[in-house]
Amino acid sequence: MDQSDELKRFLERLLTMFHMMNSRRDFLKYGGAIPWAILAGRGMSATPRLQMSKIERVKAVLRGERVDRLPFSFWHHFGLEKSPGEKHAEATLAFYRRFDFDLVKVMSDFPYPVPKSLDKIATKEDWEQLEILKNPFPEQIKALRIIHKELKGQAPFVETIFQSWTVAEKLSSRETMQKLKDQNPNLLKKVLRVISESQANHARLALEAGAAGIFLAVAAADDLVMNSQDYLKFVRESDLIILEATKGRSYLNILHLHGNKVHFDSSVTYPVQVINYSVHGTGMDLATAKKKFSGTLMGGLDEVKIARLGESELRSEIQQAILATQKRRLILAPGCSVPNDIADEPLLKVRDLVQKS
Ligand SMILES: [Zn+2]
Repeated sequence: MDQSDELKRFLERLLTMFHMMNSRRDFLKYGGAIPWAILAGRGMSATPRLQMSKIERVKAVLRGERVDRLPFSFWHHFGLEKSPGEKHAEATLAFYRRFDFDLVKVMSDFPYPVPKSLDKIATKEDWEQLEILKNPFPEQIKALRIIHKELKGQAPFVETIFQSWTVAEKLSSRETMQKLKDQNPNLLKKVLRVISESQANHARLALEAGAAGIFLAVAAADDLVMNSQDYLKFVRESDLIILEATKGRSYLNILHLHGNKVHFDSSVTYPVQVINYSVHGTGMDLATAKKKFSGTLMGGLDEVKIARLGESELRSEIQQAILATQKRRLILAPGCSVPNDIADEPLLKVRDLVQKS
């Protein structure tokens, strides 16, 4: 259809609308609405629903604006921490291409370097050997650069950073960390600060490599690890050092509250755009979380059961999430990593259901 045909049809519809109005009063009453009604009608019949790009969709959600459909994401570990960064990038990109999600949450499993001559940290002297590192995860940065290049700006990606408490726990042990907190809180704070300064350097490099922000995985803000007073006193500062490094350079920082007894209420003031938590594990639905946190929530899918959920159950989880948020300020995602050995099927179902929603 050429332009003059289209104009003719437009005028015909306009005339039809006028004929439908049987009095001058009706004309005055509806006059202002006519062009809108017709334009809307044209839009619906002539062009498909406006589809947003992944970046537009994610950014719109962060601004609290309407979206064509919810953005979604999921992730798991690939077990490639002993392979070069190229392999990790390859696995991440293949996973993204298979499931076509809107936001790539890059897993980060390369271990934090243990000071030379040590296998594990156990004593005060061991801790004192820790130094601030300029680039603690070089293979991860290599992977991020490849991911950035290959994504070609089609989808935003965020870099996972495990909080310094978790890093310190991996360098030593759970028991060592609890003992350090109870017996030498000053040394604990110093250790966390050193690791966080290294992580802050890593965060800056990740942003330079093209990341939209960081996904800060916080596992200790959970009553099963420590109560919230202890957390605020000993650990929170080390999270803030990392987030501070991204200030003004990232638009998508995500705080991941790991666990079922998380300190949600005291975490809502973190300088992040998004909080990711487990709706099913904590038992706190999205509508309740929305009242507590004014930013964007990320969650709604049951990360534990997802591997065995059928289409109708997945659809119901998605519908509940839509209902609780009215598609505003939500990135549909599991509350944590999905099982590493999950079959493709449930994830493909999620993709299809969300893309059609
Ligand atoms: Zn988690």
